[in-house]
Amino acid sequence: MSEVTEKKVNFLGYTKAQWEALLEQLGEKPYRSQQILKWIHHRYIDDFADMSDISKRLRDQLAEIGEIREPEVITEKVSTDGTRKWLIRAESGSAMEMVFIPEDGRGTLCVSSQVGCALDCSFCSTGKQGFNSDLTASEIVGQVRIARKVLEKVYPDRVRAVTNVVLMGMGEPLLNFDNVIAAVELMMDDLGYGISKRKVTISTSGVVPGIYKLIETTDASLAISLHAPNDELRNQLVPINRKYPIADLLEACKKYAKNLGEKRVITVEYTLIDGVNEQPEHAAQLAKLLKDFPCKINLIPFNPFPGSGYKRPSSVAVRAFQDRLIGAGFSVTTRTTRGEDINAACGQLVGEVADKTRRQEKYQRIAAGAV
Ligand code: SAH
Ligand code: SF4
Repeated sequence: MSEVTEKKVNFLGYTKAQWEALLEQLGEKPYRSQQILKWIHHRYIDDFADMSDISKRLRDQLAEIGEIREPEVITEKVSTDGTRKWLIRAESGSAMEMVFIPEDGRGTLCVSSQVGCALDCSFCSTGKQGFNSDLTASEIVGQVRIARKVLEKVYPDRVRAVTNVVLMGMGEPLLNFDNVIAAVELMMDDLGYGISKRKVTISTSGVVPGIYKLIETTDASLAISLHAPNDELRNQLVPINRKYPIADLLEACKKYAKNLGEKRVITVEYTLIDGVNEQPEHAAQLAKLLKDFPCKINLIPFNPFPGSGYKRPSSVAVRAFQDRLIGAGFSVTTRTTRGEDINAACGQLVGEVADKTRRQEKYQRIAAGAV
């Protein structure tokens, strides 16, 4: 028997539909799925034996075929501004990162969908690391569970410390489609984490077939990482643009936007890099490109990392770029950098696993209590 088939099913990432199908096979009523999901995601129970309103027979059956296994937290760091960053071990053995950003009246959790990323955007440290592995649905939704458990204690006065989830950590969500969708479903399900569909955002660098698949699957919020107003420049920054150019990307997004209804729009992310894409002509071109595309624009001043070869523009340049777009009638926000002292900013998430040797050494040190 192979290693994979011997492993127990991890029920942490099981959606309501999956539970209903399994319970039917076991001759149980579908409503039991509601009880089980609440135990797992509301009460954070890991042991079937503790699910007191479920028959012993069913509890034993479930324990035999599966388990509830949360990913292991390797380290948790807290910034002076309250931002938190967790290094979490994936089943593949590598590490991924998750970041929580507290703001007035809301808390945004930035979760990973893959370890590393194959798409190699020129300004992204995750991309520089290359692709390592897909996260399972359990590992993606497990990040929300880990954060909720911690943050409900840190912010007991808040109804919910995690109000928003963005899939903007490591990886390209649409290249790990099924696992991301299952996890997103659990984040939005009242029996799961009950986060509104407006507040769960999938961010893509432009995997166009994935956006078409999304149309059939979900109505979560969508962000696209544009970063350039023309194909020539975007080909350099976001290589997947050579396969799916801007026109195709915007067309797919317009179709997806129909899922969102009247009041919701797609977010366009634009990382501003000094001397590369932040000149007045770029702002003018961007305004023209997005003229008939209902959206809000989120500017991200480039977050430097060693060896990137790029620089962050001055705050004056960032402001000027924003003002030009506002002047052209767009709704524009600039993301402020948070958690600088713990390297928690967008594009700085590398999982600290740049090479295998270093990773093994690190785990040995952790095991020895040195880290
Ligand atoms: N793969 C997805 C989601 C993860 S990246 C995507 O590309 O959309 C989340 C966001 O951070 C993207 O908009 C990405 O382009 C941006 N980003 C990556 N590296 C960055 C850096 N060094 N500085 C600022 N933003 C960066
Ligand atoms: Fe991958 Fe997104 Fe980084 Fe590009 S920006 S390399 S798609 S994680």
